[in-house]
Amino acid sequence: MSVDRYRVVIRCPLCGEKYILRGKRNEHGEFETGFKQCVCGNEDQLQIEATPE
Ligand SMILES: [Zn+2]
Repeated sequence: MSVDRYRVVIRCPLCGEKYILRGKRNEHGEFETGFKQCVCGNEDQLQIEATPE
């Protein structure tokens, strides 16, 4: 079994903030990074890009 680690870039289109995180993929195909919300309060309109490490 391989450990899928990703570099995840989350961009907030509302305020322009950008977060670079490390995450892994869970069994639902979602990226788990621990990210909750942007500093501006936006938590659902996010652009997420992930690249394998
Ligand atoms: Zn924001």
